[in-house]
Amino acid sequence: MECELCGRECECRPAIIDNVRMMLCPGCMKYGKCVPVTSKPTTIAKKPILERIQRPKEKDVYKDMTKELVSNYNILIKDGREKKGLSREELGFRIGERTVTISKIENGDLKPSDKIAQKLEKELDINLFEEIPSTPSYATKGYGGNPGSRTLGDFIKQE
Ligand SMILES: [Zn+2]
Repeated sequence: MECELCGRECECRPAIIDNVRMMLCPGCMKYGKCVPVTSKPTTIAKKPILERIQRPKEKDVYKDMTKELVSNYNILIKDGREKKGLSREELGFRIGERTVTISKIENGDLKPSDKIAQKLEKELDINLFEEIPSTPSYATKGYGGNPGSRTLGDFIKQE
């Protein structure tokens, strides 16, 4: 019989690893919880272990993405406003901000809050945010990135 963990041909015994019933050789038995040979087969579904390891990793990728205000937001806002044929007063009125606030934002003197920026995006049909991965390891992958930060999930994905 083949060990389901290391594949070695030897005398295997049933054991529970991570809620999965597997046949293990004596060498791998320490990784699992031994179950008596005489017990009835468990009803636990045998899901691939790798699938369950990968899932939370994909979530982390999204969590690492942060939205950041583009650096030329003032130009985009001014252009967007002029294309819509709006004055600063009219734009300010539409998003519920003072004219002076609009002027300061367009001059680059004031960085709009996320709330104001989102209102401006909607009103002017422009995009003021860009998505940036907050973990530099993604951008520099393969260029001297820290290999220690790689997880099992990374290796699986590459195959
Ligand atoms: Zn084994």
